[in-house]
Amino acid sequence: MSLSLSKTPHSLIEHTSTNNNVGLATKAIHAAYDASNEHGALNPPLHMSSTFTFENVQAGGDMFAGEKEGHFYSRISNPTLQILEERMAILESSEAALATASGIAAITSACWTLLKAGDEIIADKTLYGCTYSFFEHALQKFGVGIKYVDLTDLDALEECITASTTIIYFETPSNPNMRLVDIKSICSIAKKKAITTIVDNTYGTPLITRPVELGADLVIHSATKYLGGHGDLIGGLVCGAKTLIDRIRLEGLKDMTGACMSPFTAMLIMRGLKTLELRMQRHSENALKVASFLAQHDLVERVDYPGLKTHPQYSLACQQMALFGGMIAFELNASANESELFMNSLQLIQRAVSLGDAESLIQHPASMTHSVYTPEQREAHGISDSLIRLSVGLECIEDILSDLAQAFEQLNRPKLSSA
Ligand SMILES: *Cc1c(COP(=O)(O)O)cnc(C)c1O
Repeated sequence: MSLSLSKTPHSLIEHTSTNNNVGLATKAIHAAYDASNEHGALNPPLHMSSTFTFENVQAGGDMFAGEKEGHFYSRISNPTLQILEERMAILESSEAALATASGIAAITSACWTLLKAGDEIIADKTLYGCTYSFFEHALQKFGVGIKYVDLTDLDALEECITASTTIIYFETPSNPNMRLVDIKSICSIAKKKAITTIVDNTYGTPLITRPVELGADLVIHSATKYLGGHGDLIGGLVCGAKTLIDRIRLEGLKDMTGACMSPFTAMLIMRGLKTLELRMQRHSENALKVASFLAQHDLVERVDYPGLKTHPQYSLACQQMALFGGMIAFELNASANESELFMNSLQLIQRAVSLGDAESLIQHPASMTHSVYTPEQREAHGISDSLIRLSVGLECIEDILSDLAQAFEQLNRPKLSSA
């Protein structure tokens, strides 16, 4: 079986022919690499080279002029990164992809490329903390306007689009409170007005949702999370049409952020991708059991998990997500001190930010990932100060549940009689 694609950098990826006939798990393992071109090496070689030699002066000049394809400097492209990029493009059903040093590097490289002073972004009201901070603190400083809208309300969106609206930006599910955004509806509104849609698919991964198939222009990933999957790297990706990705590579990445990925990181992400389907299945299976356990517990006030029928957007989740994922948000029916005691009492589940790792991770958004919002902003953006975010890991479900149960017991509340 050969799933290798064109060896020339950044060339249009052929989705037709062989690649469409195999499943996603197969693509995640094989796509865009042909071992026979690399001494039969099962894994792609690591090209730890900052620069690439030219056959002669003319060839170098032609490459710089964009008239000849090839790698010349690893801030712009690198053969190891190229395999990851082509593989991710195939998984996301996009023409092309670009690897970056982090998720935030992917977001900033894409936005800096598309925006100029006077333009406006419409963003969903709930965003990952550093994305919010980039919009609030960096973009506004350079004369870009930001409007935060509840994108579950399509009328509200239509009302705030103006001639200056350049980008509509959202996450689904959103970090940290698990709101969903209807990708297809938002993108069809944006398309009519020639506005670029950017969807952060970090929580979903292409195994769960493929925004390009639903009309999105650009898909963002923090590869630090599920794609890498082992908590041992920082990386990002942007996927989209080749013309757009080429621009982000040659403007945003090359000249504005310079935040390129290391080939070593690309290798680790490709290693992670090989088990992405298995991991997402197990994360989702465990998370549904944890969410159900929390939902029936006396000390839990609310649970937000798209796989629970009580989630207000359960039917959208069923349409838009192949699995419900590994992330849960919940609030305790307890004081702030008791919530803290609950988290401090966990023994297996680790107190840490980040998500998508093998280890279950718990954190408090208001004091950690979303502390860049003021309390008033958190309130306006629907991020409760008592919200707890749990990234359900790959451990045995019985062990995760019993850790949660023993932490609840530390709160020392009188047990309700079961009679
Ligand atoms: C973590 C995260 C980011 C930022 O990614 P980094 O790799 O940490 O730069 C962006 N979006 C979402 C939804 C995230 O969870």
